[in-house]
Amino acid sequence: MIAIALDGPAGAGKSTIARTVAKQLGFIYIDTGALYRTIGLAATAAGTDTDNAEAVAALLDSLSIQLTFRGDEQRVLLNGEDVSDRIRTPEASMMASKVSAIPAVRTFLLSLQRKMAEENNVIMDGRDIGTVVLPNAQIKLFLTASVECRAQRRYEELIGKGMDVKLEDVKSDMEKRDYADSHLATAPLKPAEDAQIVDTSWLELHQSVALLTEIINHRLNG
Ligand code: C5P
Repeated sequence: MIAIALDGPAGAGKSTIARTVAKQLGFIYIDTGALYRTIGLAATAAGTDTDNAEAVAALLDSLSIQLTFRGDEQRVLLNGEDVSDRIRTPEASMMASKVSAIPAVRTFLLSLQRKMAEENNVIMDGRDIGTVVLPNAQIKLFLTASVECRAQRRYEELIGKGMDVKLEDVKSDMEKRDYADSHLATAPLKPAEDAQIVDTSWLELHQSVALLTEIINHRLNG
């Protein structure tokens, strides 16, 4: 099996790029952020305090999380219910970031992520794929961009979905998440030593997609 690890902070364009590249290569695209978002949602729905690591850990045994595919679109099921749309709000982003700091949550999701890569050719999008989840991935890419550029992109995406958000709030949420993600005791956001770093700050999305496609094709085909 071939695995491509695509890590980087929120808003660097990973998901769009990964989706396009996966389609071209016939690989499965796995968005691991959706798994953390789903646990955040489950904790909120159960009234569990996401700052209380033990309480969140205790909840995990009652959760069944499955990734399924509708065509090439990933859907995530929480105890059989499709929560793919509900996990996309700014609140769900913050909850995901909080629960992702809990080691028991990371361990819980590790086997699910590895199993997907054992059974399929994957491009897996996350924060710790190249460093922790798939350290033997054939290709490791770390996508980054300035916080201003990433906030602007995420703002446009949320507005496009009809959400009523302000650019300054999106930017400050992103800065908080960046800080939290890069200061995790387990699996902090950082490039693997053998990852290729790509800065997309000054690229339009279609240019980032073209660049990453070129890099991946070159690496896969020699
Ligand atoms: O990528 P996305 O924005 O959906 O991720 C939501 C949150 O889940 C991130 O801010 C991060 O805290 C967490 N996450 C993680 N490890 C991953 C993917 C996401 O800790 N592999």
